Amino acid sequence: VGAFTAYDLEAALAACRAAADTGTGVIILLSARSYMDRDGEALLAALLAVAAHSPARACVQLDHCDRLEVLESALAAGVGAVMADGALLPYEENVALVARAVAVARKHGSAVEAELGSIQGDEDTAQAATVGALTDPEQAEDFVARTGTDCLAVSIGNVHGHYSRPPELDLGRLRAIRSRVSAPLSLHGASGLPDTLLQRAINAGIRKVNVNTELRIAYLDATRESLPDAVDGTRLTVLHAAQVAAVQSVVQAKLAVLGASSSE
Ligand SMILES: [Zn+2]
Repeated sequence: VGAFTAYDLEAALAACRAAADTGTGVIILLSARSYMDRDGEALLAALLAVAAHSPARACVQLDHCDRLEVLESALAAGVGAVMADGALLPYEENVALVARAVAVARKHGSAVEAELGSIQGDEDTAQAATVGALTDPEQAEDFVARTGTDCLAVSIGNVHGHYSRPPELDLGRLRAIRSRVSAPLSLHGASGLPDTLLQRAINAGIRKVNVNTELRIAYLDATRESLPDAVDGTRLTVLHAAQVAAVQSVVQAKLAVLGASSSE
C-alpha cells in the first residue's frame, strides 16, 4: 500500500483520486508536526473527511510521533493508524511506548506502526541525509513479539528527504527481518529510490511505502508554474487544480510501481 503525506486538502484529494484511478487503497499521512500545529486538529478533521468521501479505500495515519498523549488524541479523533516512533529512544523505552500505543489503538479499532533502527532525515523538509542505524533482524523479532505492533518500519539504507549519495538498500537484511517477523514491513523515504530498487524491496518483503518529498516538489513546481495564470484573474481555483493534478500524477506513478511489484 502507498502512504502519502498531505499538508492540506489538495494533496489528500490528489492521493485519493490517484488511488481511485488505479483501483487501489491509499494511506494519507499527517505529519505529527502538522497535527501539533495550532490548527492541526482541524486539518486532521479535514483529512478524515477527504478519506470518508474518497471513492477509493482510504485511511488517515498520524506519522512519526513519540508522544503518547498526542498518539492518544489522534486515535480518539478517528485516525485509522498511528506511527508510534520510539526509534531514537533506548530499546526498552521504544518497546514500552509502542506497547502502550498498541493498547490504546486496540480500543479504537486502529492500527500501530513502529520503527526499529533509525531512519535518518527530516520528514517535513528535504535535506540530504546519510543512513542511520540499521534494523537488527533478531531484535526486530523480539520487538514485534513484545509490542504487538501491526507494522514495522525498517532501516535498511533508506532515509527521509534527499539521499546524500545514490541509495543502496540492504535487501539481505530485509529478507532476514522478513523471515523473523510476520507483521507487514514498511519502507520510509521512497522519494528518490529508483523504481527498480523499490520493486526489489517489495519483492523482498516490503508491504507499505511512504512517500513525501517527491509530492512536495511536484506541488511546489505546479504552484510556481500556475501562479501567473492564477494571479492574472485572481483565480485561486486555477492554483488548486494545478496542485491537485501535479500531486495526483506523482501518486499515480508510485502506485503503478507498487502494483507492478505485487503482481510478480
Ligand atoms: Zn517516515
